[in-house]
Amino acid sequence: MTSELQATVDPGRLNQLYQEETERFVAARPRSRELFERARRHLPGGVPMSWMVKWPGPYPVFVEHAEGAHFTCADGIDHVDLCLGDTGAMSGHSPAATVATVREQVGRGITAMLPTADAAMAAEELTRRFGVPMWQFTLSATDCNRHLLRYARLVTGRPKVLVVDYCYHGTVDETFATLDEQGRVMARRGNLGPPVPPEHTTAVVEFNDVDGLAAALAREDVACALLEPAMTNIGIVLPEPGYHQALRELAERHGTLLIIDETHTLCAGPGGCTAAWDLRPDAVVVGKTIGGGIPAAAFGMTEDFTERIAAAVPPEDVDVGGIGGTLAGNALSLAAVRATLTEVLTDEAFTRMEALAIDWTAGVQGVLDATGAPWHVTRLGCRAEYAFSPQPPRTGAEAAGADDFALQQYLHLQALNRGVLLTPFHNMALMCPATTRADVDAHTEAFEQAAQALFGA
Ligand code: PMP
Repeated sequence: MTSELQATVDPGRLNQLYQEETERFVAARPRSRELFERARRHLPGGVPMSWMVKWPGPYPVFVEHAEGAHFTCADGIDHVDLCLGDTGAMSGHSPAATVATVREQVGRGITAMLPTADAAMAAEELTRRFGVPMWQFTLSATDCNRHLLRYARLVTGRPKVLVVDYCYHGTVDETFATLDEQGRVMARRGNLGPPVPPEHTTAVVEFNDVDGLAAALAREDVACALLEPAMTNIGIVLPEPGYHQALRELAERHGTLLIIDETHTLCAGPGGCTAAWDLRPDAVVVGKTIGGGIPAAAFGMTEDFTERIAAAVPPEDVDVGGIGGTLAGNALSLAAVRATLTEVLTDEAFTRMEALAIDWTAGVQGVLDATGAPWHVTRLGCRAEYAFSPQPPRTGAEAAGADDFALQQYLHLQALNRGVLLTPFHNMALMCPATTRADVDAHTEAFEQAAQALFGA
């Protein structure tokens, strides 16, 4: 996709700057290169999961040691980590309380397919934060979403799910749908081998489009609406005033269950946007960071939704109905969740993290003002991001239209060469409890140099 910016950044200059940064990267990272050469013999792309090829530079940076808000790579270079495993490490890397609890649990049983005391404690803490009272645990947010879509279809008897254009909810088939230029549902670009055409399973609406939502739900074939309360996977797109209230009212009026996916928007506070904005959904999903990096995710449901499920699922069918996972709810994950929620990602930690994100945003805004770069910066709690359009987008399509892959690759490589890691999918920075003001300033300094190189005389 191109942006208005093409007019202001000369592609030749961008290419030259990218080449210079590539040379710098290669010169500084011979050991990562060696590890990459070895890895690619048995790992496609040299990585254990394909999307790790999306980092900037000719090969990925191999990590040697990660702790708090920093990591050291195989070449001994210290980095400020503002990506934090794309939220998987929003708790900070290897937080002491989680590590101590996990060490202890590893010595007394990792998985038994029986509950441990930690499960109820974790569920109590999640209830305090999000308001919904009944919880189940999986190993990934993807699985939470898959399970909730099944349950929603089961209890409503309806075939479809509704999602927002340019959403991301994990590798969930129904969600890889987008709108074409005529507003019809189609497979999203990059949707690999969809099992059925997505229009059979999915209704798609633009974010912030209440009329579109009303029309889609009025057909009364939608089991559930699955949304991030603010979009974070195509850049940050914030809801307009009144949007969530309209969503809640329409869902209720048409018998559609409302599922709020807080996997990323947990950044908005201890109870995500659900608590911060009083959203009152039928179900909530949280994942990624709640185990401090140990695989764990959770979905919470209202009493009513839980009772409808119980009434529809006979006990002899619970193991083959499409819900579960052998290691889901294992003792190690639950110990990690309990420790991370009660001792690491505490209410007080969120206050500090948000203050740092405010500083980060101010630093970026200062550079934009000084250089005249026609971009904007947005923040949601302890997550912030700059994007290549003068105004914040209202919809996922607008955000996608402002994307510029080449420019993004340059900015990320430039930052990486100055010891700052940004999230590869967009220009996002996340604060963890261990992030410091010096870490924030390191980014501002690198960003200023990049903006000068792009826009300076
Ligand atoms: N929901 C949202 C909102 C996400 O951003 C993601 C991952 N980026 C997921 C679900 C899926 O998480 P996981 O890959 O850990 O299953």
